[in-house]
Amino acid sequence: AAVRSQGIKRTKTVCTYCGVGCSFEVWTKGRHILKIEPTPEAPVNGISTCVKGKFGWGHINSPDRLTRPLLRRDGVFVEVSWEEALEAVARGFGAVREKYGPDALGFIASSKCTNEEAYLMQKLARAVVGTNNVDNCSRYCQSPATQGLFRTVGYGGDSGSIADIAAADLVIIIGSNTAESHPVLATRVKRAQKLRGQKVIVADLRRHEMARRADLFLHPAPGTDFVWLAAVTKYIIDQGWEDKEFLAKRVKGWPEYVESLKDFTLTRAAAVTGISEADLTRAAQMVHEAKRVCVLWAMGVTQHCGGSDTSTAISNLLLVTGNYGRPGTGAYPLRGHNNVQGTSDFGAMPAYYPGYERAEDPAVRQRYEVAWGVKLPEKPGLDNHEMVDAIHAGDLRAMYIIGEDMSLVDANAHYVQAAFAKLDFMVVQDMFLSRTAEFADVVLPATPSLEKEGTFTNTERRIQRLYRALEPLGESKPDWEIIQAVANRLGANWRYEHPGEIMAEAARLAPLFAGVRYDRLEGFRSLQWPVAEDGTDSPLLYAERFAFPDGQARLYPMEWVPPVTMPEEYDLHLNNGRLLEHFHEGNMTYRTEGLRYKVPGAFVEISRELAEERGIESGALVKLISPFGEVVIRVLVTDRVRGRELYLPMNTATEAAVNYVTGSHTDRVTHTPAYKEIQVRMEILEKS
Ligand code: SF4
Repeated sequence: AAVRSQGIKRTKTVCTYCGVGCSFEVWTKGRHILKIEPTPEAPVNGISTCVKGKFGWGHINSPDRLTRPLLRRDGVFVEVSWEEALEAVARGFGAVREKYGPDALGFIASSKCTNEEAYLMQKLARAVVGTNNVDNCSRYCQSPATQGLFRTVGYGGDSGSIADIAAADLVIIIGSNTAESHPVLATRVKRAQKLRGQKVIVADLRRHEMARRADLFLHPAPGTDFVWLAAVTKYIIDQGWEDKEFLAKRVKGWPEYVESLKDFTLTRAAAVTGISEADLTRAAQMVHEAKRVCVLWAMGVTQHCGGSDTSTAISNLLLVTGNYGRPGTGAYPLRGHNNVQGTSDFGAMPAYYPGYERAEDPAVRQRYEVAWGVKLPEKPGLDNHEMVDAIHAGDLRAMYIIGEDMSLVDANAHYVQAAFAKLDFMVVQDMFLSRTAEFADVVLPATPSLEKEGTFTNTERRIQRLYRALEPLGESKPDWEIIQAVANRLGANWRYEHPGEIMAEAARLAPLFAGVRYDRLEGFRSLQWPVAEDGTDSPLLYAERFAFPDGQARLYPMEWVPPVTMPEEYDLHLNNGRLLEHFHEGNMTYRTEGLRYKVPGAFVEISRELAEERGIESGALVKLISPFGEVVIRVLVTDRVRGRELYLPMNTATEAAVNYVTGSHTDRVTHTPAYKEIQVRMEILEKS
């Protein structure tokens, strides 16, 4: 056995894909990844993983990896030394800053990177360059959910642990294809359904796996979730089913909130959403009969012009029925990327310092000014959506983008790419020459998760360590080392030797992480924020207090604004989302042979009715055209979608990417693109 295991190294890591945060050991020999071994100690997943966590590691040794910095010379990239590349970065950023001021630069942190890297990116923007123009891709997904929770309960995170979901009597899943997007979390629900008779309501446009398993499936008209949620809540109140004691003791704003619901009758809701009054009543009854209700939601809710309002409506329903503060209750916005939670938590946002302290608060700024020894910018920063507009307006002239294929994953890709083409100077830091990197002046080669140390925070606010399993390939470097090198070239004097030192600094400055220390995160140990100085963490929020100074939750009254409409010729609604086998733009999963073999490319799902009407079958080639662009794609006829509703998976790094047809309209509060509010028309290119 000793001979057989010679040279084999076992390293604990955290999955680099979705926000569930599965952890496991990776077995390596040299640069070969021998296997992924989940272990019972893993706090989220135990011995489970999904297909991506188990097999999706082809990107690590991909021949496409960047191993040396690239510099654009006479329009083409040439490999250069780190010295040359960093010199060019310092010169490029320095020139823009000198000519146009610090707010002419924009910084995009990566939700695939670690907490420590997010912390350094916002520190670079604020303390070294002097701008609050820093953001991350939570703007593309869950910022509206965070907003809904900020308005009502205080913290922008799941209110309980993933394990608690099993204790719910009723789980409501809205706009989330959980079995494909958060597979290991979905197994909690499937198991509780089987073992405990847990009830499930699913509201979605697609009859996906969880919808088929649901006790009640609601199919609202696109963009109308707010209406059915408000109507169900009003019906509950009209029946006197609200939790009177909970409301009296722990919640403010009741009269104004009840007044705001007055027009949301079942009849109106049925007319707007297309859900029958009988099903709306049944949903209300199921909520009433369940002692513990939790709601899981994702991009089907948030990626709308009313994403923040619908997220708020979910939290209002939970407050009205007393479903916060106990295991099996509460709000679970399901975070997409492995570290989309942590990248926001650690301050890579224009309006917030680490731990969600407001950048406009002079006391917060002063604390950081003392610690960092610099004067910090007062002017509010631009979010990533505003940065693109600012480039077109000539106000933003340079960008530093880490690990984000923004030219494909931001909505209205043509508009974003046209903006990037206008930049005076652009640096992209990535493992691959992504579509976005093609616009850069300098490309810096970064390492994947297996080649660095740090922490990720999953959807349930759980901070977990990852350890270095492999040495960086070629001359690539961990992102935190590159950010530090860039900062120092721009005049800083950072001397971090290990990510643990970065976390220690963040913990000293941000009260939310006061007790987060690397020794408390050894191996499979983890902490869920807020973490008190003595290391006590918070698996369950709001048991006694909500996160407002007076400890009271707020019911938040709102009006409904219908989704955007497009000219009549765009007669088909285009939904989009994930596939189990691939992740986002696919830059990592399409480089894993097995996953690519299983799902080699994109397709658009259309209903049987529409296929019959247009005389096409699976395999037909069609062009989808919106006011913003077009994609050419093969058809898959399925009963998962209905009528004139289409579904295009977003996981493709090709010219068929869905964002060539999405538009620039956004959530009214957070500027999250309304990816789900798009109408297209379809031209048939080949019938089958
Ligand atoms: Fe990774 Fe998510 Fe799959 Fe777990 S469920 S293995 S975190 S992709």
